[in-house]
Amino acid sequence: MHVQEILEKKRDQIKLTQEEIRYFVDGYTQHKFPDYQASAFLMAVFLNGMDIDETTWLTDAMLHSGIVVDLSEIKGIKVDKHSTGGVGDKTSLIVAPICAALGVPVPMISGRGLAHSGGTLDKLESIPGFDVNLNLDQYRNLIKKTGLCLIGQTEEIAPADKKIYALRDVTCTVENKSLISASIMSKKLAEGIDALVLDVKTGSGAFMKSQQDSEELAKMLISIGKKMGKQITALITDMSQPLGTHIGNSLEIIESVQVLKNDNLPIQNDLRVLSIELAAHMIRLGGKAKELEQARSLANQVILDGSAFEKLKEIVNKQDGNEKALDDFSLLPQAKCNRSIKAKEDGFVKNLDALKIGKGSVLIGCGRMTMESKIDHSVGIILKKKVGDHVKKDDTVMDIFYNDPKSLEKAILYFDQSIEISKNKVEPPTLIIKTMG
Ligand code: URA
Repeated sequence: MHVQEILEKKRDQIKLTQEEIRYFVDGYTQHKFPDYQASAFLMAVFLNGMDIDETTWLTDAMLHSGIVVDLSEIKGIKVDKHSTGGVGDKTSLIVAPICAALGVPVPMISGRGLAHSGGTLDKLESIPGFDVNLNLDQYRNLIKKTGLCLIGQTEEIAPADKKIYALRDVTCTVENKSLISASIMSKKLAEGIDALVLDVKTGSGAFMKSQQDSEELAKMLISIGKKMGKQITALITDMSQPLGTHIGNSLEIIESVQVLKNDNLPIQNDLRVLSIELAAHMIRLGGKAKELEQARSLANQVILDGSAFEKLKEIVNKQDGNEKALDDFSLLPQAKCNRSIKAKEDGFVKNLDALKIGKGSVLIGCGRMTMESKIDHSVGIILKKKVGDHVKKDDTVMDIFYNDPKSLEKAILYFDQSIEISKNKVEPPTLIIKTMG
C-alpha cells in the first residue's frame, strides 16, 4: 500500500477501506509520512467527506494508535465532558472539579486551541508550573487519589489525535464532522470513561454553524460512543456569542475561578448556567443523582460550600501548578497594554460575533498561526456587554489586553466588526437549545 494511492482515492471521492485508513493513521503517527502528505489527506477528507463507516474506522484507528486505558480498578462511574469547540468556552475547568468534589471520577484528556477556538490545555498552562504531560501511571494514580486528572493526548494515549489535531489547527481542516468526531471520540474512548457528556456548539463561533449540522455532528458522536458501549448525552448549545465574558488563556482561568468561588456573578450568567447544566448531566450519569434537578442542586452546593474550588486547587497543586495563582491573579501572566472598543451608537447589542472575536483573539496571540507558534497566555478580551444588553454611544463593549501593538492593529478590525447594535430591543440567544441521546 502507498500513501499516494490513499490520497488519490480520497481526492477522487472513492470510499476508503478500514485497512487503508489504519495504514494512514499508523504511518503518520509513527512518523513514516511527512506533514505535507498528511495535510493533503486531511484536505481531501475535508472537501469530500467520509461516510459513517469510514468515520468509525478512523476513530478506531486513532483510538488504537495508543493505549486504551483500563480504569476498572477505580471505584465509581467514570464520566467526562467534551466540547466541540468555541470561544470563551471554559466549562471543563468548572465542571471537572464540581464532579470530582461530589465523588464522580473525571479522567479528562483535553486538546489545545484549535483554529479560532480555545483549548483547555493552553488555559491550564497559563497557571505557572501546571504540567499537562503526565504519563499513564501518574494519570491513573491521580484519578485514584483525587478523582480527577487533566492532561493532553500523549505518546501513550491517543498519539494519533495529538499529531493530527495540531496539523488540522494550521491547515484549515478543522470544520469537518468526521474529523471532529474521530478526534473527540478517539481520545475520550482511550481515557477509560464509562459515560460522556458532549457540549455540541452551534453558531458562528462553533465549527458547525447551523443547528442542523450541529445535530448531525451530535448524532455521529453519539452513534460512535454507543457502538463502544458508552453512555452518551449531548447538549446542543449556543456559540453565536462567546461564552461568559473572558476570552484568552489566563483570563479564562480567572473567570472559571470566579464561577467556582461564586464571586459577584448574576444568577443568569451564561457560563455559570451552562456549567451547572453540564455538571448536572455528568453527576446523573455518574450515579450521584437520579433526577437532573437534584444533580443541579448538588452542583450548586459544592460551589457554595467551596469544595469544588478546593478540588481545583488540589489538582493544580498535584499537577505541579502554583495553586496560589487561583487566589492571587497577579501571579498569572499579565498583558502589558489594553485598549477599549466602544459602542458607536445608542441601542441594544444585537451581535457579538464569536467567530470574529475568536479570529481576533488568535491574532493577538491567544492561539497559533503555525505548528511552531508560541501562544501568549497573558492576552485576551473581556466583554463588558453581552447580546441583549443596552448600550450608550461610547460605552465600552470590550477591553482588549495585548502585548504586541502590530498584532493588535491587525486584530482590531475583527473586534470592531464583531459588534452590531440595534435600535430595537434584542433578546439574548437561547443558551441550551436541545438535549440528545
Ligand atoms: N475538540 C476536539 O477534541 N477535536 C476537534 O476536532 C474539535 C473539538
